[in-house]
Amino acid sequence: MSNIVAIVGRPNVGKSTFFNRLIQKREAIVDAVSGVTRDRHYGKSDWNGKEFSLIDTGGYVVGSDDIFEAEIDRQVELAIEEADAIMFMVDVESGITGMDEEVANLLRRVNKPVFLVVNKVDAANRLHDAAEFYSLGLGEYYPISGINGSGSGELLDALVAALPEKEEEDEEDELPRFAVVGRPNAGKSSLINALIGEDRYIVTDIAGTTRDAIDTKYNRFGFDFNLVDTAGIRRKAKVKENLEFYSVMRSIRAIEHSDVCLLVVDATRGFDGQVQNIFWLAEKNSKGIVILVNKWDLVEKDTQTTKAFEKHIREQIAPFTDVPIVFISTVTKQRIFKAIETAVDVFKSRSRKIQTSKFNDLMLPIIEHTPPPAYKGKFVKIKYCMQLPTKTPQFVFFCNLPQYIRDPYKRFIENKLREHFDFSGVPIKVYFRKK
Ligand code: GDP
Ligand code: GDP
Repeated sequence: MSNIVAIVGRPNVGKSTFFNRLIQKREAIVDAVSGVTRDRHYGKSDWNGKEFSLIDTGGYVVGSDDIFEAEIDRQVELAIEEADAIMFMVDVESGITGMDEEVANLLRRVNKPVFLVVNKVDAANRLHDAAEFYSLGLGEYYPISGINGSGSGELLDALVAALPEKEEEDEEDELPRFAVVGRPNAGKSSLINALIGEDRYIVTDIAGTTRDAIDTKYNRFGFDFNLVDTAGIRRKAKVKENLEFYSVMRSIRAIEHSDVCLLVVDATRGFDGQVQNIFWLAEKNSKGIVILVNKWDLVEKDTQTTKAFEKHIREQIAPFTDVPIVFISTVTKQRIFKAIETAVDVFKSRSRKIQTSKFNDLMLPIIEHTPPPAYKGKFVKIKYCMQLPTKTPQFVFFCNLPQYIRDPYKRFIENKLREHFDFSGVPIKVYFRKK
């Protein structure tokens, strides 16, 4: 589980420009593999070997012209609750605005690391203009240029130095950790209540409560599992304002803390872009995924309905289509047991280790039969392969010219792997290395 860093600030100060700079290199690699357009407001970054998750809170603001201050306040409050550190960005071109002051007021009371980032300091002559931001009362500031990158090294040095050390996950506890995630109103709380068999889903009104996702142990349907309780504390009164942003912020921590995500989808609303965002959050974090199409009791069905729905979802999640989809109803309790059983299976697959000899015996003949196509007249020879001793499935293929392996061949290998070993719902990684 990595630290979460949120970038806050009013519109147009340059948050998304800087965000893209920080995640660019890594995301580009991921995108090339999957060919999927992704959520551009959440990504992973690292500096000096320390990894962190980055959220561009501004990405969730709709219609930045008529943005309400209250809405920004709300987002900043959420960011404060959910993030481990905050970068507050202001704009040297426009100087201090009323909204900046308001955000600064909220941030001064926070006891998490806050970094005041003065953006658009593209040239040295703007450096002294930046000094006015001292008056925000947030202490030292970091002058940067999101466009040309200057100043960002000092900022990132200070950021990663201030990030708390994340304790290693408890290796002794072999129980699956399930996180129930999805859009607002998809039926997450109903599912949790159905799973734990009682209506003890706690709702409190404590404002500004800070807490980590908490694992609670359950035994139901003959399975032991931990439920990563995200919405355990949620503020009914306030959640209306920014449901989407709220659910994404909540999902991030829950997902990072889980082994398997139960992605609850409202069958009456479909598998839309917001659901996909959450799906890719889980995939990007190498978490197991089970898609639960909920409220199936409300859907008028004929013989083709389930198939068509499934097909639609698989089109949206390509190329990672090897994911179990279960149609449930938390009202009639239909297939609730099946849902948890499937999640347990995914958990097991995700921790599976394939013996090296068995793996080679299977994969080498496949490779011999369908070798990597020659590239620029060069032939790639794959000598042997193995699963890495990592927590999530990663496979390495040793060969003479790894740089000539193209994405389609990587996908071919992944598909063969999935054909022969059950990795349904499990993101896997395939590498080619020189030997
Ligand atoms: P956001 O609304 O805070 O996410 O801001 P954007 O990243 O969309 O940037 C708003 C505008 O500021 C865009 O026109 C950017 O090109 C510009 N911008 C961002 N960073 C810089 C910078 O470092 N220097 C200058 N001169 N312009 C910048
Ligand atoms: P959450 O925001 O994702 O936690 O969603 P809730 O669990 O609060 O459910 C939102 C609404 O959908 C509530 O009115 C539930 O009663 C309703 N709901 C949840 N699951 C089902 C279901 O399987 N069938 C039907 N008909 N309604 C459901």
